[in-house]
Amino acid sequence: MSASPRPDAPDTPPDSIRITGMNKWFGQFQVLHDINLTVREGERIVVCGPSGSGKSTLIRCINRLEHHQSGQIVVDDIELNANLKNIHKIRSEVGMVFQHFNLFPHLTILENCTLAPMWVRKMPRAEARDLAMHFLEKVRIPEQADKYPGQLSGGQQQRVAIARSLCMRPKIMLFDEPTSALDPEMIKEVLDTMIALAQEGMTMICVTHEMGFARQVANRVVFMDAGRIVEENAPEAFFHNPQNERTRTFLGQIL
Ligand code: ADP
Ligand code: MG
Repeated sequence: MSASPRPDAPDTPPDSIRITGMNKWFGQFQVLHDINLTVREGERIVVCGPSGSGKSTLIRCINRLEHHQSGQIVVDDIELNANLKNIHKIRSEVGMVFQHFNLFPHLTILENCTLAPMWVRKMPRAEARDLAMHFLEKVRIPEQADKYPGQLSGGQQQRVAIARSLCMRPKIMLFDEPTSALDPEMIKEVLDTMIALAQEGMTMICVTHEMGFARQVANRVVFMDAGRIVEENAPEAFFHNPQNERTRTFLGQIL
């Protein structure tokens, strides 16, 4: 099932993610407050904000690594609720890349990439291998296929993590600070991979403080503070004319 175009605006891409009035608590602590965010197919959203503001929790709710308690999250026309069938469908359509790569250390790079296509998608081994090599070439490390994650640099491991996600043919990619655990000289190679993905039209939500990346690829920048979306704007307006005092303070600290 794919999102249907809006009848009122035939040229507008369909909604990929629609979050309305969403709230989430960890026990007594309300971590997300009245979140409203719509992402259309092909959009690239950068989410930024201070540590602890709820950025990771927000994107983890989108593939139900965390569940929300009220409001609505609809991904590709499927509402996220307790229905496990929906969750499996969403997980196979939404790829996620974490700060700490999360590769399986005892599997080779190739095996890391073929595991889910073979076991979740029931793809024959040879086909899964071809697909994995295709994406390892895309992230420019096909020669590392038979090595183990521990033999690769952080930047290479993160590119493998991206290739591994792409092997599931996701419609949406979520990135949670994918470069913040990397040495400075490796950040660019990972960002370049993400930029290439954006240029191919992938729908993306990226939590990152790489503001050069945000300027280059984002349609919109979302600023969060204390569990709320405080400001949301096109990069140009966001960086040059921030509306909110907290956004100005944040930008003053990181730029
Ligand atoms: P960010 O990614 O913006 O740094 P997080 O979404 O990780 O923020 O966390 C938001 C808030 O929720 C923080 O105060 C954090 O301590 C809290 N939090 C995150 N995960 C949990 C959890 N599993 N249980 C309880 N509190 C949590
Ligand atoms: Mg986080």
